[in-house]
Amino acid sequence: YKAKTGRSGHHVYDSVDDSHGEIRLRTLAELRLALTDEQLVVHYQPKVDLATGAVQDVEALVRWNHPERGLLLPDQFVPIIEEAGLMHALTQVVLRQALDQAVLWHAQGRPLTIAVNLSASSLVDTELPDRIGAMISARGLPASLLALEITEEFLLNDRDRARGILTRLREQGIRISVDDFGTGYSSLSYLRDLPIDELKLDQSFVFPMAGDERAATLVSSAIALAHSLGLRMVAEGVDSGAAYDQLLGYGCDFAQGFHLSRPVPAAELDAWLADRRVADAESTLLLAAEPA
Ligand code: C2E
Ligand code: MG
Ligand code: MG
Ligand code: MG
Repeated sequence: YKAKTGRSGHHVYDSVDDSHGEIRLRTLAELRLALTDEQLVVHYQPKVDLATGAVQDVEALVRWNHPERGLLLPDQFVPIIEEAGLMHALTQVVLRQALDQAVLWHAQGRPLTIAVNLSASSLVDTELPDRIGAMISARGLPASLLALEITEEFLLNDRDRARGILTRLREQGIRISVDDFGTGYSSLSYLRDLPIDELKLDQSFVFPMAGDERAATLVSSAIALAHSLGLRMVAEGVDSGAAYDQLLGYGCDFAQGFHLSRPVPAAELDAWLADRRVADAESTLLLAAEPA
């Protein structure tokens, strides 16, 4: 394989790691193509304001539209990209698509903030803040329409470098969110000194919440902790109405999960948002028409 230059002008690969057997190698070869060939698509999942039902935020989740194997989920290919050292290329592809979509929504008078996932490895790159800043300003987009989701793993490595990178991103107006909160084997001390705006409580805490008092206590305490630090809390994996109501009772700010919407292409999200507005208007009408 020869090094190839992607549309962004960056080298998307230099070498092939052939230590993982034939299938993995084939997948990797296909992935290199996918990264330059628009086979990677971004789906969007809403973060719903629990108290009002409003949607101002969506998360961008990458999928691989494989020519033979169909739509593949991140678990099936992101680790291969990571191991091959191609994370930088994936991040560029997802950021580009997400920011283009943000421009569209913004132009349609629907300013949705899009959250893009960053892997720990893409965050050791001290040029990232400038590169992202340039991508935003090239599109004339308010930086507040981009959020970045990082994991606690990232914070484990080099705390000073992490702080520097996050500070430079946040100074531009980009929101920083800690993903999979509570699962990272990380000490909580980063909550004291790192510039972050939001915690996302991992779904492994949310799933057992209904039947398990200790699990429920963990959830409500994590929400209280976030609030006492001035952070907003998003619950992941809200897959039932009961979970939604329970989180609302705990004062959680946002919910994300299959109960609300699966991650879907932008056009489907548009339809989902339109349906909700109709349902909203109808229930308002019904309430207004109700006899006193
Ligand atoms: P994540 O960032 O924690 O994303 C949440 C995952 O939970 C998504 O899986 C989403 O589809 C799933 N999910 C949401 N609601 C529910 C629910 O109610 N029930 C259940 N069972 N699952 C729910 P997905 O899309 O397969 O992504 C998995 C992980 O892959 C993400 O976890 C993220 O760590 C990674 N990933 C996805 N897109 C990207 C990307 O563009 N770049 C990087 N670096 N990583 C990404
Ligand atoms: Mg995420
Ligand atoms: Mg998560
Ligand atoms: Mg996750």
